[in-house]
Amino acid sequence: PFDVLVIGGGPAGATAAIYAARKGIHTGIVADRFGGQILDTLGIENFISVKYTEGPKLAASIEEHVKQYDVDIMIQRAKRLEKKDLIEVELENGAVLKSKTVILSTGARWRNLGVPGEEEFKNKGVAYCPHCDGPLFEGKHVAVIGGGNSGVEAAIDLAGIAKHVTVLEFAPELKADAVLQDRLYSLPNVTVIKNAQTKEITGTDKVNGITYIDRETGEEHHIELQGVFVQIGLVPNTEWLEGTVERNRIGEIIVDKRGATNVEGVFAAGDCTDSAYKQIIISMGSGATAALSAFDYLIRH
Ligand code: FAD
Repeated sequence: PFDVLVIGGGPAGATAAIYAARKGIHTGIVADRFGGQILDTLGIENFISVKYTEGPKLAASIEEHVKQYDVDIMIQRAKRLEKKDLIEVELENGAVLKSKTVILSTGARWRNLGVPGEEEFKNKGVAYCPHCDGPLFEGKHVAVIGGGNSGVEAAIDLAGIAKHVTVLEFAPELKADAVLQDRLYSLPNVTVIKNAQTKEITGTDKVNGITYIDRETGEEHHIELQGVFVQIGLVPNTEWLEGTVERNRIGEIIVDKRGATNVEGVFAAGDCTDSAYKQIIISMGSGATAALSAFDYLIRH
């Protein structure tokens, strides 16, 4: 059996695998693709000590770093976890891997709007992460789709950078906490449009506007702008753990400060957990924490 089996090959999983392998213990990593969300990222400017890099380049150097160590890499999808004497992980191809400890780092995905233009203009004006891409829209007009906590937080954040921010909410009311709404409405360069159904993100080589339908009147409107931040939810890739590992209301794996889950010997790290913020550097930190905790568990059992 493995000593440590990591599920997920993004920043969290790769870091966990390296930390585990450096303890000289039998380490494996299962990932359906190596690199995770950073493969879908263009510019990265907040990975400290690297002023600028691009997602695919960072993903390649993460993979190269993992391959420096004796780690069994399996490009596969995990579909079931079961705690017996050892922890068993079943893969989509039917194989069952056994390990003394498991680190779950299957990440998350941004919920897409699913309107024309969204896919086409990803990284060309369509963005999902205000901490990451906000500064690219300095002095420009942007929209935030979604008036929940993350949408309103994003709008407040972006209002300090962009010239103007328009928030589009599908429902008749914003869903964000009252204190965030108060802050939002106090800002001079923010417009809130409720009952707005986004119909299309328009552009040529990059975004130049958004079309929405006023759900009350049925009228169609178009706003000229340069950026659209989609903030309608981050979904953790944890559906396959239903009924085995404890998750919160939105499906994030609940971990303690050591990265331990409710199942003995099972740890978790990165965007699939209930950690406060979802960033590369934060995922890597939690991957290191989970691996050290798994090692600590092994020497006590
Ligand atoms: P992920 O990167 O999501 O990796 C999850 C891994 O698990 C993947 O390898 C996936 O294939 C695998 N996996 C999932 N399910 C299974 C399964 N069942 N079996 C096997 N493998 C599975 N952060 C920043 O710090 N700076 C930025 O500039 C930045 N820009 C971003 C731009 C975009 C467009 C996006 C989407 C995100 C951005 N982020 C940025 C956030 C950052 O990418 C994430 O916080 C980080 O990648 C999370 O790492 P992770 O390892 O937890 O998860």
